[in-house]
Amino acid sequence: MSSILQAFASLSAAGALLVSGALETAAPQNSDTSMLLLVNREWRISENYLPEVRVSDVPGQVRRLRREAAAALEAMFAAARKEAHVTLVSVSGYRDYGKQERIYGSKLKSVHGDEEAADEYVARPGTSEHQTGLTMDIGQSSGKDTLESGFGGTRGGRWCRENAWRFGFILRYDEGWEDITGYSFEPWHFRYVGVEHAARIHENEMPLEEYLKIIRTGILLDLVSARE
Ligand SMILES: [Zn+2]
Repeated sequence: MSSILQAFASLSAAGALLVSGALETAAPQNSDTSMLLLVNREWRISENYLPEVRVSDVPGQVRRLRREAAAALEAMFAAARKEAHVTLVSVSGYRDYGKQERIYGSKLKSVHGDEEAADEYVARPGTSEHQTGLTMDIGQSSGKDTLESGFGGTRGGRWCRENAWRFGFILRYDEGWEDITGYSFEPWHFRYVGVEHAARIHENEMPLEEYLKIIRTGILLDLVSARE
């Protein structure tokens, strides 16, 4: 951190402003095309974000994902079959803003308009990572522990935790990360970020939010050193 501060200190105020503007532009969590696009309860996705998705060729339902993620999911499920003799299924992939709006709306109705209660169960439109087209809720063909914390202890769940990174997916909401991610432990929810990032995130056992801080620091240092 001190090296960033030193670098900043060496810049004029106007220069620092330029760098911070460039950083915002370069920030991968804001980019629709980046695999590091961030969506959580604070970083909302636009209603107009409509990724190009396709149906993944895997068993299950709601199988649509962005192209890169769909291909990776197919490879991952094939490997799980071969290595762990388990048939993984897609439970829920891409949802658009309108769909999330309807889901939240009906939950809100069922709790008589109590927003706090609704928020506990359903993400508000714009705050669900499923809207990126890069996220898949994974289950097993046996249907055992579908969308339950017990999935993490099943053969399929364990295999996913250990191996998803090889295909570019990360376990997005691990135990103990609630304060950072804003979501409870979800051993079934996997997010595509590409193999390079997934390998680093898996190795460091950190939430995407923390990893993005490191990435931003790297971009900042590059910007600063380019000006020197
Ligand atoms: Zn999910």
